[in-house]
Amino acid sequence: MTTASTLDFDVETLRKDFPILSEKVHGKPLVYLDNGNTSQKPRQVIETIDRYYRAMNSNVHRGNHFLSQQATAALEAARRTVQTFINAAEDREIIFVRGTTEAINLVAFSFGELDIREGDEIVISAMEHHSNIVPWQMLCARKKAVLQVVPVNDDGELEMDEYENLLTDRTKLVAITHISNTLGTINPVKRIIDLAHERGAVVLVDGAQSVPHLAVDVRALDADFYVFSGHKVFAPTGIGVLYGKAKLLEAMPPYHGGGAMISSVTFEKTTYNEIPFKFEAGTPHVEGIIGLGAALEYVNSIGLDAIGEHEHDLLGYATEALETLGGVRIIGTAREKASVISFMLSGASGAIHPHDVGTILDNEGVAIRTGHHCTQPLMKRFGVPATCRASLAFYNTREEIDTMIRALGKVQKMFA
Ligand SMILES: *Cc1c(COP(=O)(O)O)cnc(C)c1O
Repeated sequence: MTTASTLDFDVETLRKDFPILSEKVHGKPLVYLDNGNTSQKPRQVIETIDRYYRAMNSNVHRGNHFLSQQATAALEAARRTVQTFINAAEDREIIFVRGTTEAINLVAFSFGELDIREGDEIVISAMEHHSNIVPWQMLCARKKAVLQVVPVNDDGELEMDEYENLLTDRTKLVAITHISNTLGTINPVKRIIDLAHERGAVVLVDGAQSVPHLAVDVRALDADFYVFSGHKVFAPTGIGVLYGKAKLLEAMPPYHGGGAMISSVTFEKTTYNEIPFKFEAGTPHVEGIIGLGAALEYVNSIGLDAIGEHEHDLLGYATEALETLGGVRIIGTAREKASVISFMLSGASGAIHPHDVGTILDNEGVAIRTGHHCTQPLMKRFGVPATCRASLAFYNTREEIDTMIRALGKVQKMFA
């Protein structure tokens, strides 16, 4: 049933860059469709980290010995790679953090200290990941501010009229995901940002799901903050990025205190370092940062346009195959959609719990995610406790989709 993609995209060659993709699980070839959860790493990233520990390991920004200078230069080169990748104006606007979660907590704390007062309003949406909900709830509790939530329609799109209605003179900050990790919806972030700016509010965009799939230009978007995790874009875990406009970052107080974030310390008075260092207390995740640089260069070498095209092809192919299989309810049918498919499966005797689906697929070597995907309010919105979610990366193939569909057919037979 597989017809070759007409696209000029050499997925088989690219797959060879990812050692784990030739592993077997339960004696079956691994079909990895859990990329929204974390991505696999190419040898270019693994080898960069290996080289770092074999030949360069040293602390950064401290010693003036050879290795320390090498490590510092590699780290700062990675910062410039990130800058170029998202088209930031300056490299000091790139803050290294542990991931999306830490980046949002940093902004919630630090921007919160700077500019959120009693009665101010913060706008999020019903499709946010818990890490773009809870830090704002904590901030609202601390400052007696008010959290407003943009609703989502039945297709999983933001209700933009409602969004406009929620924006008032009291709105200080809007925090919205670029792409929903559960629904795949690509939100109109440019319009969201423009509308917020008309009201004088700043906007944080959660880019955890967008950076691996589409070209991001923070200046074209005019985003005030843009955050993402390395591990979802083929880089190591424990490293992530907070982009912030220099003016904002300079005005914001530090988040963590410690080494590297100071310019001088006495017991009477400590003065803080300049950005980005003001927000990078302590020894950074050096190999993670260098690995992130290698990952972004790897993505650049393929090109996000080519990646987007291939993934769009896979998304269409998988959506059609699921519809052909039958007994499938797809949750998230937005017009603008990335390669994430949440669904509920039914057999002849009714709905099958996503956990059962996930377990049986795992036995077939197929890794999907089942659960609430850290979006419990969104599950409630769609009236389900959990979904099955296949999230695709550029290294996935139509053959792998076929394998998943065959495995889902098996599940339906078992629950007939
Ligand atoms: C994964 C994810 C996060 C959290 O990222 P961490 O790497 O766990 O910090 C936040 N938002 C979205 C949309 C995500 O997909």
